[in-house]
Amino acid sequence: MEQKIGRRFEGKVAIVTASTQGIGFGIAERLGLEGASVVISSRKQKNVDEAVAKLKAKGIEVFGVVCHVSNAQQRKNLIEKTIEKYGKIDVVVSNAAANPLTDNILETKESVLDKLWEINVKTAILLLQDAAPHLQNGSSVIFISSIAAFQPAASMGMYGVTKTALLGLTKALAAEMAPNTRVNCVAPGFVPTHFAGFITNDEVARKAIEERTLFNRLGTTDDMAAATTFLASDDASYITGETLVVAGGMPSRL
Ligand code: NAP
Repeated sequence: MEQKIGRRFEGKVAIVTASTQGIGFGIAERLGLEGASVVISSRKQKNVDEAVAKLKAKGIEVFGVVCHVSNAQQRKNLIEKTIEKYGKIDVVVSNAAANPLTDNILETKESVLDKLWEINVKTAILLLQDAAPHLQNGSSVIFISSIAAFQPAASMGMYGVTKTALLGLTKALAAEMAPNTRVNCVAPGFVPTHFAGFITNDEVARKAIEERTLFNRLGTTDDMAAATTFLASDDASYITGETLVVAGGMPSRL
């Protein structure tokens, strides 16, 4: 991503969860290229190390911490290490989600329901509880939801419902955290990442999705990073409680 970009995050500190590949990595890269000190994380040390090396090679100030978002100790450690290293938090991008491949909702096991709620909704809240004391005046929180939040598709039904919950969480926390912190949400369309590979690697499914967009293409991680950094930046300083759909015109809204 070498297009002309600004330096909107000079002097800012940004945490992005689940950010060693895919959309999270793209967001971390864009924040870093715009001047932020970026804290990236995911479950596996090897992935963290590789992503840190890639971002450093682009001249980005980056720090990597292992954090499985379901692990309370690792969430606390993520915040503590960030404060030890950079002393404050300006941006939190909550991007982690559990794999969407699930059964029909009425056939989904309780353990799977619990996992989807936990990773997709509850841990986003718990991480913010840990981060809140360190959020600066003018800080910004972004949840990564999904186009599936608006119309949960068959077989991804419960995943979609957890993503719908993030739209409500965005509204509720925007009120709770104003005026210090803005809280917004990005709802990506389909992006060919590892996560979405079970759909986007299937030629027929991919074509069907492309045709549902108005541009006849899938989204890119850069598309998601551009929208997320806009909402995180002072360019969006009068925007809070909103969800930006970034889905090439695919039908959305409840
Ligand atoms: P991805 O390319 O598969 O990347 C997932 C990242 O998350 C990896 O860095 C992975 O690294 C990390 N991760 C997975 N589980 C984690 C956990 N429990 N705790 C911490 N890190 C974890 O996925 P993606 O497509 O970019 O998805 C990112 C977000 O976008 C998700 O919230 C997803 O729901 C949303 N989204 C994606 C699409 C799409 O089409 N791709 C569409 C709409 C919304 P490790 O393996 O090292 O943990």
